[in-house]
Amino acid sequence: MRRDIPSEPDSAVYKTLLESTKAIPWRIDWQTMTFSYIGPQIETLLGWTPQSWVSVDDWVERMHPDDREYVVNFCVSQSRAGVDHEADYRALTSTGNYVWIRDVVHVVRKEGEVEALVGFMFDISERKQTEEHLIRLQKQLEEYSFQDGLTGIANRRMFDTVLEREWSSALRSQLPLSLIILDIDYFKQYNDHYGHIKGDECLRQVARTLSKAANRPRDFIARIGGEEFVWLLPETDAASARRVAERCLHLIRQQQIEHAHSSVSPLLSLSLGVGTTTVKPGSEALTFVEEVDKQLYQAKRNGRMRAEFFEAMV
Ligand code: GH3
Ligand code: MG
Ligand code: MG
Repeated sequence: MRRDIPSEPDSAVYKTLLESTKAIPWRIDWQTMTFSYIGPQIETLLGWTPQSWVSVDDWVERMHPDDREYVVNFCVSQSRAGVDHEADYRALTSTGNYVWIRDVVHVVRKEGEVEALVGFMFDISERKQTEEHLIRLQKQLEEYSFQDGLTGIANRRMFDTVLEREWSSALRSQLPLSLIILDIDYFKQYNDHYGHIKGDECLRQVARTLSKAANRPRDFIARIGGEEFVWLLPETDAASARRVAERCLHLIRQQQIEHAHSSVSPLLSLSLGVGTTTVKPGSEALTFVEEVDKQLYQAKRNGRMRAEFFEAMV
């Protein structure tokens, strides 16, 4: 028999080991629901002395109210069933703050009956902070990927998504769907004359201004290209779309943005293509967008600073 490995646990050695780890060991007697042991490290982490952990109620009370119900129910049912488990929760510190804890629990049985729970508490606040930070970043990324970075309104990708959804909806409802494509006149000259910084500021002002032209909940504005914008107007007939288009022209005119090198006006102006359709089975959103785009180019050819209209034959 080998003599160098003790056959009986040396409790002093174990105690030293347990109390020198960062994880906090504990033991709960199942019969009395009291702590028979908790490592002194608990005081370093939470500020409560080991002696202050008497019954499981102390554990429950020192838990964030939002975590309490779920964690207690989960741990009690797992323990009753004799299943090892772990739970994450926020533990209250003696100074009134919270620390994220992961409690890893082993159920000790004797002759089939639960005798005790033993476990370790781990400080996972840093990991939780990283997780929460990642979730925030992820959300921001999703927002950014559908948002135009310059103006803050929706971008082309978002427009494609919304158009697809509204196209299906318009097919089902058989209510008219309208689209306005807006393009700034002689914007190249604007940039050449005033510079890109001013150009960018102008695009932000145009986006802000155009946003005011329609306000029903499903009306949708996006910047789909350099100086091109769209208004998608569900459940909107040709007459209402015309009113929105005229409001766009009017609102931009009201801004009186100087554009000294435009060939049509000393003030910044727009050209608009406007279309209305009732969606038929098999008809394509892209074809409709192209029709409206043709109206925009018609407006450009007809002298700019104007809108041209198209209504699909039904
Ligand atoms: P038209 O009246 O025929 O529309 O003439 P235009 O000069 O507006 O049209 P064109 O498409 O030739 O030029 C668009 C210009 O828009 C090109 C570029 O200088 C400018 N532009 C596109 N994107 C941006 C941007 O993000 N910022 C700035 N400052 N300018 C942009
Ligand atoms: Mg353009
Ligand atoms: Mg243009």
